[in-house]
Amino acid sequence: MKALVKLEVGEGKVSIKDVDEPQITREDEVKIKVKAAGICGTDVEILHGKDALFRPPVIMGHEFTGEVVDVGDRVKELKVGSRVVFEPTVGICGDCRYCRSGRYNLCSNRLIAGFSAPGGFSEYAVRRQRYVHKLPNKVSYIAGALCEPLAVCTHAVLELTPIYPGDIVAVIGPGTIGLLSLQLAKASGACPIVIGTSKDKLRLDLAKRLGAEYVVNIDEEKETLSGIIKDLTEGCGVDVVIGCCGAPESFGLGIDILRKGGHYTQIGLFTRDVSFPIDKMSYHELTLQGSFGQKNSAWNRALPLLEKGLVDTLPLVTSLPMSKWEEGFKMAETKQAIKVVLEPGE
Ligand SMILES: [Zn+2]
Ligand SMILES: [Zn+2]
Repeated sequence: MKALVKLEVGEGKVSIKDVDEPQITREDEVKIKVKAAGICGTDVEILHGKDALFRPPVIMGHEFTGEVVDVGDRVKELKVGSRVVFEPTVGICGDCRYCRSGRYNLCSNRLIAGFSAPGGFSEYAVRRQRYVHKLPNKVSYIAGALCEPLAVCTHAVLELTPIYPGDIVAVIGPGTIGLLSLQLAKASGACPIVIGTSKDKLRLDLAKRLGAEYVVNIDEEKETLSGIIKDLTEGCGVDVVIGCCGAPESFGLGIDILRKGGHYTQIGLFTRDVSFPIDKMSYHELTLQGSFGQKNSAWNRALPLLEKGLVDTLPLVTSLPMSKWEEGFKMAETKQAIKVVLEPGE
């Protein structure tokens, strides 16, 4: 079968290769024909040899959906023809304190598709059923490829961040993670303000359509932002900041606009050290929360949100056949598209 493979460490060294088609070897496994697989920011990092977790040679891609074509003897819920989405988790140790408490996203020995195990930019993939979820009927394979980033946001925004109806929530960075986080904040009854830069004009327009109360281009409207926050919070600052971007200055901005006692959750990776006025954490009793990946509980909350239409992923998507992967990666890197989804069968 054809698959997009990162062959070695370093810049580039990615191409479509003929590799062995995976087969079911355990009773609890499910095999799918991959229908759609999203390009994540980390895939672009892997292309450039920058990510710390990948172990080449590896089939790339960790956000994907497909149709079941074979199941092991112990698989009952899923049948040939079922529409499913795979978690990126391929295996965990099962014994560490994190695995035993259900926080397997923190397991040091977790195998992750597209990093340390075969990913979704391929015609077929196999996974244990515990990491497979049914795709809601209403959700297309292409829209469903965003279930993984949605589960990431669900973990960060709904599981790790205290958000209450009426809260003012600033979402910094209107990429995929920001546009999904804003919808989760909105669905929680909060008032989302989405902040981007001059490069993000189209994304900010989309944020507005997806439910942002306010959108701000920080390059041109810094004072507008101060005015909005002053009006909404009597000058106190926002209740919550969701950091969805990797620009170091975005972190300082988030700390700056957060109220005393506020909560800052960072999802985006900076891939470098960032300095900030740490004493402000004490003086202002700020809570700084990191969030990494997703786990089963987040998937179980994310999928019904998609099914009920409380979150919409399709407006974020540009789809291409997998043969045009280079174009897709370029579009993702240069922000010409928000989420590029490749179709391996095309
Ligand atoms: Zn990702
Ligand atoms: Zn573990």
